Amino acid sequence: MSGRGQARKVLEQVFGYTSFRASQQEIIDCLIAGEDALVLMPTGGGKSLCYQIPSLIRPGVGIVVSPLIALMQDQVLALRQQGVAAAALNSSLAPEAAREIKQQLLQGELQLLYVAPERLMTDSFQALLQQIQIALFAIDEAHCVSQWGHDFRPEYIQLSTLHQTFPRVPRIALTATADEPTRKEIIQRLNLEQARHFISGFDRPNIRYRVAADNSNIRQQLLRLIELDYPGQAGIVYCLSRRKVDDTAAWLQRQGVKALPYHAGMSQQVRTDNQNRFLQEEGTVIVATIAFGMGIDKPDVRFVVHLNLPKSLEAYYQETGRAGRDGAPAEALLFYNLQDVITLRQFVEQSDADEAHKRIESQKLERMLGYCELSSCRRQALLAYFGDHLHAPCGNCDICLNPPKTRDGTEAAQKALSCAHRTGQRFGVNYLIDVLLGKDSPRIQQFGHDKISTFGIGGELNQKQWRGLFRQLIAQGYLALDQEGHGGLRLTDACRPLLRGEQTLLLREETTVGKKKKGAAGRKGGYRGGNTRLWEALREKRLQLAQEQGVPPYVIFHDATLMAMMEQHPQTMEQMGRISGVGAHKLDAYGDAFLQVLAAYGRVDTPLTETVAESLELLRLGLDAEEIARRRALKPSTVYTHMARGIEEGLVALQDVVALDAERMEFIQDLMLEQGAEIRLGPVFETLGGSVDYGVLACIRAELSRRLDS
Ligand code: ADP
Ligand code: ZN
Repeated sequence: MSGRGQARKVLEQVFGYTSFRASQQEIIDCLIAGEDALVLMPTGGGKSLCYQIPSLIRPGVGIVVSPLIALMQDQVLALRQQGVAAAALNSSLAPEAAREIKQQLLQGELQLLYVAPERLMTDSFQALLQQIQIALFAIDEAHCVSQWGHDFRPEYIQLSTLHQTFPRVPRIALTATADEPTRKEIIQRLNLEQARHFISGFDRPNIRYRVAADNSNIRQQLLRLIELDYPGQAGIVYCLSRRKVDDTAAWLQRQGVKALPYHAGMSQQVRTDNQNRFLQEEGTVIVATIAFGMGIDKPDVRFVVHLNLPKSLEAYYQETGRAGRDGAPAEALLFYNLQDVITLRQFVEQSDADEAHKRIESQKLERMLGYCELSSCRRQALLAYFGDHLHAPCGNCDICLNPPKTRDGTEAAQKALSCAHRTGQRFGVNYLIDVLLGKDSPRIQQFGHDKISTFGIGGELNQKQWRGLFRQLIAQGYLALDQEGHGGLRLTDACRPLLRGEQTLLLREETTVGKKKKGAAGRKGGYRGGNTRLWEALREKRLQLAQEQGVPPYVIFHDATLMAMMEQHPQTMEQMGRISGVGAHKLDAYGDAFLQVLAAYGRVDTPLTETVAESLELLRLGLDAEEIARRRALKPSTVYTHMARGIEEGLVALQDVVALDAERMEFIQDLMLEQGAEIRLGPVFETLGGSVDYGVLACIRAELSRRLDS
C-alpha cells in the first residue's frame, strides 16, 4: 500500500478519525519519505498526529523529545488507550521502570518513546540509540531552543547534534508559538535548513473571545459563567496577584464551586496536587497566576477567564489558547480596568530591564489595551497582530455577536483632552472626571481647578461613560499614562487633529458581558440544548471508566466524541466505529458500554447525515444559518433544513436558529396550527407574502411537531 493510503488507514483504525486536517497529510507524507519538516500549528491544531502516524508506519521507534513531563505522560496514556505501544522516559521514573523501557527498546517492542531532552543527550542513551532502529525524531515545543523566546531550555541546544549522529533519520520540529525571528532561530540551531516548512494559520475558531471593561459585579458574572454556561466543566481563571488568586478561589468555594488555587507562593506539594485534581477530576476550576499552564495539555478546558489584563497579546493568546484544545466550543473572557494598566505599567517601570526593553514592554501593553477597546472583530485584530489574515469578521467574538453601538464622541473627547491639559497633565482618570463633572471636592479646590474652564462642563456623560471614554482615548493613543506608573495622563501628539476637529472619535457604548445575543443557550453543560440527560449519562459512563483505570476522563473519549455520539446516535458496533474519535482499540474496549447508554436514553430514529451534523456543529460554534451557508457554500434554505432536523431531534433550540420577534413567531405558529395535523408550508409562505424564508418556516414547523409529539 502507498504511504498515503497507509496513513489514512492508521488515522481511521487507530485514531478513529475520518479525515486529515489542514496540512497533516502532507507533513506525514514528508516524514514517511524520510524528509525533515518544520511545523507551525496553533494549539489544538493536531500536531501530535503528524509524528505519531509516521512513527507507526516507518520501521523502528519514533523518538519524541518533549520538555514537559506532564505532557508526555498524558500523551502516553492516550496512545495506550488507542492500542499503541508507547512509553515515556523521564526523571520521574523509578530506575527499575527505566530499565524495563530500555529493554523494550532493544527488543523493538516500542512504537513511540517520549523522552526529556537531557535524558536523550546522555552518552549512555546515545549509545543505546545506536543499537536500535529509529523511525524519526520529533522535537516538540521547538521554540524552547530559542534563547530569545520565553521558554528557553538550554538542553535543547544540544539537539543540533542529532542530525550529525543520525543523518538518515528524518526530524520534525513542532511549535505553536514562533514569530519570524524565533522560526529562523529554530531552523539554524536545529540544522533544519533542508526541512520543508508547514506554517498554518493561528486561528482557533472554536474559541469565543469576549472582553468586558470596568465591571463592578465581576464575581457574579464569573459565577454565572461557571454555573450557568459551563456547569460541571473545567476552566482556568487567571489573576494578576497571588492574593487575588487566594481570595477568588476561596470565594468560589463558598459559592459551591470546585475551585482550586495555584500560584508560585504555594508549596510544591499543594501545587502538584491541585494541578493533578484539575487534570483528573471533572468540573474543576483552577484559579491561578500565570505560573499555571505551561505543559497543561488538558483538551477539555471549556473556559479561560482573565480577571486582570494580561501584559501582552502574546501572553493573552497563549493563555486563552489553553481553552478548547479538543476543538469543541470554548470561551475566553477577559475583564479589565484601567487600574490594571497602571499596575502593569508600574511592573515594567520597576523592572531591572534596560530602557529599550522597557519600551517594548510598554508598547506591548498598549497593543493589549487597544485590543480590549476595539469596536471591530476581535479575532481579526488578534490574528493581524500575529501576521495572519482573516478576511471577514469571525462571527464568534463579542463584537461580532453583539456589535457595540457607537456614537460621535468627538466633542466629549475634546473636553476630556482639554481638561487633562488645563490641569497640568499630571492627574489620573478619576480626578479628571471629577473636574469634568464639577464635583465639590477639597482637592480640586486646593489646586484651584474649580476655576478652570473645563470645570463642570461634562454633564452629558455620567461617571461610567467618562471612564469608558478615557479608556478609549488611552487605548487609541491620544492620552498616555505617565512613565512612573502613578496613573497621570498626558496628551500625545496624536491629539492635535482631534482637538482641531479634523478627526472624529467614535465612542463605544458600554455593554456588559451578560448580554449575549445568540448561541447563549447552546453552551449549557457543554452541549447545545436538547437531550442533556443523555449527555450527562455519557459523561457519567466516561468518568466511571476513567476512574477504574486511574486516568483522566478525556483519555477515554473527548467531549467532541461524546457529542458526535449524541448527534449520530449509533446503534451497532459498526456504527459506533464510524464515530470520530473511536478507533479500533477503543471500540473494542468501550463500544459496548456506550452503546448501552445510548440505547437507554432518548433515541434518534434516523441518524443524522454527515452534512446535517456538520451544519449543526458550526451552529454550535456560534455561527448563524446565513454564515454557515456562506462558509459551506450552500444555499441558506438548505442549511435551514439541516437546522430543522436538529430541532426535530431536540439537539438545537428554535431560538438559537431563528431570530423573529415573539409576536411574529406566534402568528406564524397559529397559521400552522390552524392547518391541523398535517402542516404544509406553502400556504403559510403565501399568507406571509413570501417575507419569511421556507427554511425558517421549516424550523418553526419542526419545533411545533416536536412539541406536539412530546
Ligand atoms: P496540538 O498538539 O497541536 O495542540 P493535538 O495534537 O493535541 O494538538 O490535537 C488536538 C486535538 O485534535 C486532539 O484531541 C486530537 O485528537 C484532535 N485531532 C487531531 N487531528 C485530528 C483529525 N484529523 N481529525 C479529528 N481530530 C483530530
Ligand atoms: Zn469576530
